[in-house]
Amino acid sequence: MSRVAFITGATRGIGKQIAITLAKSGCNIAVNYRTENDDLKSIKQEIESNNVKFFAVQGDVSNYEDCERCVKEIIAEFGQIDILVNNAGITRDTLLIRMKKEDFEQVINVNLIGTFNVTKNVIPYMLKARSGRIVNISSVVGISGNAGQTNYAASKAGIIGFTKSLAKEVASRGVLVNAVAPGFIQTQMTEVLKDEVKEEIAKTIPLKRMGTAQDVANVVKFLTSEDSSYVTGQVLHVDGGMLM
Ligand code: NAP
Repeated sequence: MSRVAFITGATRGIGKQIAITLAKSGCNIAVNYRTENDDLKSIKQEIESNNVKFFAVQGDVSNYEDCERCVKEIIAEFGQIDILVNNAGITRDTLLIRMKKEDFEQVINVNLIGTFNVTKNVIPYMLKARSGRIVNISSVVGISGNAGQTNYAASKAGIIGFTKSLAKEVASRGVLVNAVAPGFIQTQMTEVLKDEVKEEIAKTIPLKRMGTAQDVANVVKFLTSEDSSYVTGQVLHVDGGMLM
C-alpha cells in the first residue's frame, strides 16, 4: 500500500515542493493549507498526475482544535499517516527593541506550538503502526541566531529541541524524527528582501547561490526514505555550506 505523507503549509514554497516530490516517489499526499488559495487546484492536478491520491485539509496550525480536526479528516480519508512534515512557518522580523509582544507570540504560536499541535495529533497513529517518519523544518537561524529574528530563531531552535526529545521518546516504536535546517531559500518568504541584499547574502554562501525549494524537498525525501532508516534525532543543514 502507498505511504501517506502529510505536509503542513503546502500551498506554496518549500511545502508545495515537498508535496510534489513525495508524490513523485509514490506517496499519497495530504496537504494542509491555512488560506483558500487558487493554487490548490493546480497543486492537486500536479500531484494526481503521479498516479497518487491528493487530499487537502484547511486549518491554522497554531490552533489545536484545527489540527485535531485536520488529522481526523486525513485518517478518515486514508486510514493512516506514515510521514509528517511540519513545514508551515512565518516570520515577523524586527529588532527586539521594536518587537511587539504579538510579533513574538505569533511566530512562536505558528512555528513551534504549531509543530507540537500537529505532531501531538499524528503521533498516536504512528506509535500504533510502530513506524513513521517526522521531518520538522527548522532553519540555520535556529542554530546561529540572526539579528532581527529573535522570535523566529527562538521558534526554530525550539523545533530542534523538540525534534531530538521526541526522537528519543519514540525510537523504540520505529518512529524516526529529524529536522531540516534550510539556509537561504528562494521562496515568497525571502522575496521581500531587496535584490542587493540577496546578492550580498549569496556571496557569503560557499556554494554562491540561494537554495531552491527543490534542494530542501530532496533532503526531506531522503529523510522519509528507506535510505535514512538509521538516522534519527538529527538536524540536516540544506544551506550551501552557509553554516559549518
Ligand atoms: P512561504 O513561501 O512563506 O510559505 C509558508 C507556508 O506556510 C504557506 O503555505 C503558508 O500558508 C503556510 N502557513 C503559514 N502560517 C500557517 C498557519 N498558521 N497554518 C497553516 N499554514 C500556515 O515560506 P517557505 O519559505 O516556503 O517556508 C517554509 C518553511 O521553511 C517555514 O517553516 C520556514 O520557516 C522554513 N524556512 C524557510 C527558509 C527560506 O529561506 N525560505 C529558510 C529556512 C527555513 P498561507 O499562505 O495560508 O499563510
